[in-house]
Amino acid sequence: MKTDTLCSEKPAAAMRRRELLAGLAAGLLLGGRRLRAAPAGGVGIELFAVDGRSEGLKNREPVRKSPEQWRRQLSPAAYQVTREAGTERAFSGEYWNNHAAGLYRCICCGTALFYSGTKFESGTGWPSFWKPISAHNVSDSVDKSLFMTRTAISCRLCEAHLGHVFDDGPAPTGLRYCMNSVALNFVPFPAKAAA
Ligand SMILES: [Zn+2]
Repeated sequence: MKTDTLCSEKPAAAMRRRELLAGLAAGLLLGGRRLRAAPAGGVGIELFAVDGRSEGLKNREPVRKSPEQWRRQLSPAAYQVTREAGTERAFSGEYWNNHAAGLYRCICCGTALFYSGTKFESGTGWPSFWKPISAHNVSDSVDKSLFMTRTAISCRLCEAHLGHVFDDGPAPTGLRYCMNSVALNFVPFPAKAAA
């Protein structure tokens, strides 16, 4: 049940240029805005440098660990949210009021998930974004828990539950990715890039 319809990722011009050059080199003409599909046998994840530059789509083995391994790696709160689809209390997390520039990465596997430039004040007490950093890096699924039908958002590489997406967000997407701080690891841009 994976679709990209909720994620309107628009690669930067530089990315499109690099993709085009790579495609021409491979003898392929690329259509549309999608990046090249990753080779079979893995998950195509868009990688991002510490300053936020895209490094393109790379094939990665899905990250799979036992509950015991995840428990050893994560805090109890992070385990409950990411591996048991929990939700942190509103205004309790580290990032709902974070205004620094940088990338929000998966607490479980480090995949880049959100960029500070798409964060907005939702007033909900959870960090909120109007789009993921790359449609390749998250997946969505129907969540019928708590007598509601919601769209859950997960890290595509390790299947960590991150939060939910709603359709009452700001322009340009109209989407609100309502995330749990504890599922994320904020990595500020280096001083020069953040200036
Ligand atoms: Zn992950």
